[in-house]
Amino acid sequence: MRLAGRGGRMTPRRVVVVGAGMVGLSCAWSLQDYGVEVEVLDKGRVGRGASWGNAGYVAPSLTVPLPEPSMLRFGLRAVLDPGSPVRLPVRADTELVRFLVRLVRHCTGRRWSRAMDGYRMLNAQIFDAFDAQRQAGVDAPLREAAVLAAFTEAGQAAGLLHELEGVASAGQQIEVGLLTGAQARAMEPNLSREIALAVRIDGQRYLDPGAYTAALADQVRARNGKITENVTVTGVDRHAGRVRVRCADGHRDADAVILACGAWLPDLASDHGVRVPQYGGRGYSFTVPLRRRLQGPLYFPAARAALAPRGASAARVTSIMEFQRPDAPPDRRALAATLRAVRPLLEGAEWRSVTDPWVGARPLTADGIPLVGPSATDGVYIAGGHGMWGVTLGPLTGRLLAEHIATGTTPAPLAWLDPLRKSH
Ligand SMILES: Cc1cc2nc3c(=O)[nH]c(=O)nc-3n(C[C@H](O)[C@H](O)[C@H](O)COP(=O)(O)OP(=O)(O)OC[C@H]3O[C@@H](n4cnc5c(N)ncnc54)[C@H](O)[C@@H]3O)c2cc1C
Repeated sequence: MRLAGRGGRMTPRRVVVVGAGMVGLSCAWSLQDYGVEVEVLDKGRVGRGASWGNAGYVAPSLTVPLPEPSMLRFGLRAVLDPGSPVRLPVRADTELVRFLVRLVRHCTGRRWSRAMDGYRMLNAQIFDAFDAQRQAGVDAPLREAAVLAAFTEAGQAAGLLHELEGVASAGQQIEVGLLTGAQARAMEPNLSREIALAVRIDGQRYLDPGAYTAALADQVRARNGKITENVTVTGVDRHAGRVRVRCADGHRDADAVILACGAWLPDLASDHGVRVPQYGGRGYSFTVPLRRRLQGPLYFPAARAALAPRGASAARVTSIMEFQRPDAPPDRRALAATLRAVRPLLEGAEWRSVTDPWVGARPLTADGIPLVGPSATDGVYIAGGHGMWGVTLGPLTGRLLAEHIATGTTPAPLAWLDPLRKSH
């Protein structure tokens, strides 16, 4: 430890980060700005958790709390339909039941609006946090684009429009346009004739998440950080005035540790006072070749599918919300269901040449709010629970938490993200 500039507070000299996903790498990278020595540990390889096969949208206009009233109506219908994009295991464990009960409690308009006030604070700073990483040398493309949300019937758009109205009412600036089916096809020629209406959400960005996390890891290393792959952390406690990170291959001592282990966070964080229920919301993805280049992010809300360009002539298709443990075997039927749902909506896709099937777990919290800040144990910090939006919120999470750890100040959004908040 050494004295920080402000108020004589001790800045940790050495911090271990558990988890080399978008969130953990961003925390490590931001700590390096304060001269902190970092080691990032991952039980697998860099960026191969949820940060791998996702859609890569960096979309502040869509970054909203997950629990909302229409989820209840949709969720009930979906659970009764075996082909639906929302799936529950046949036998739910007690943790899942507890999680779902709390999630349902948060599906009210009042709680959504309250949470949205917090998201508005975060969303205003998302691009700035990405720009800081890129200006300092994180060398991976981040493209500007509109997200095109397409529907086969006008009635299907009501939910998204209502949500966007909520975002605007919370005071967040958004720019939205309504398009006919023909206008949508002119903008995105891969859309089929089934599309009757689209909503264009301007001013968003997207990236290839695998390429971005690899570039971020390169920068952490270039700034003298260490990244160790294939090391499982089994527990964290205090030992001789420091933090001891217990690993399958021994231990590391540090002045502080950040637990940024995505959907596995409850395994390590529950020993440190984090009580907000969390569960894995697994999603699936695959890549399909297209005859024409996909123009930008394409979203089919009714099919719960989000597509993004992959190279010049393919799309990554992501979908499904499967409440399941992160390491459970993938369910092949999930990919088939996505394929069936998306197929009629695209023209010119080569469905027989689908590649890269993938499953990953969104780290969901029951109140739809991430968990970022100090835990109940001195020197143990939490960075997780970003649910649907951990790519979008990763760099900002790193920036806010690093500022807190290094200087002792608490930037405004951190109080709202308190990992020790009471769970209702
Ligand atoms: C289908 C799908 C589509 C998505 N689309 C988007 C999108 O378009 N935009 C967006 O913003 N978000 C999206 N998300 C959400 C986003 O992927 C996640 O919120 C984000 O990747 C979480 O990042 P993370 O770093 O917290 O977790 P992860 O990327 O999962 O990283 C956690 C890491 O911790 C490691 N780990 C876990 N336990 C241990 C341990 N005990 N010891 C050592 N290491 C450990 C894991 O191996 C893993 O590498 C999507 C998710 C899915 C599933």
